[in-house]
Amino acid sequence: LHAPYDPQNIFAKILRGEIPKVTVWEDDAVLVFMDVFPQSEGHVLIISKTSTARTLLEIEPEVLATLIAATQRTAKAVVKALSPDGFSIMQFNGEAGGQTVFHLHFHVIPRWTGRDMKG
Ligand code: 5GP
Repeated sequence: LHAPYDPQNIFAKILRGEIPKVTVWEDDAVLVFMDVFPQSEGHVLIISKTSTARTLLEIEPEVLATLIAATQRTAKAVVKALSPDGFSIMQFNGEAGGQTVFHLHFHVIPRWTGRDMKG
């Protein structure tokens, strides 16, 4: 949980434009982009462009407020665009917590009644 930020993590590379992404929304503070291995149609990720927090433990509260507001806006946009029956907000911390990319991020995963999650 307490390792240093690795500037070679995939999301750092995405932020530097070193690997391609499908952008949904971007401003000075946040990047919203499509998950490349979506668990359902419309699975998107929300990350800070300014913070190098790896987990929820490290993020500055002001940056977290911006991120969670962006996550809410994203959820609203996804619901409007795809009309899911529900959605999941997910956020994992540490390998044992299910985290695989160590740049803090929120998942918005649309869900449909009777449709299984992929992966
Ligand atoms: P975590 O388990 O760390 O919360 O989730 C990391 C997410 O990043 C996973 O859902 C995975 O599919 C996604 N991901 C991994 N590599 C890439 C990539 O290169 N591009 C994009 N857009 N998403 C990625």
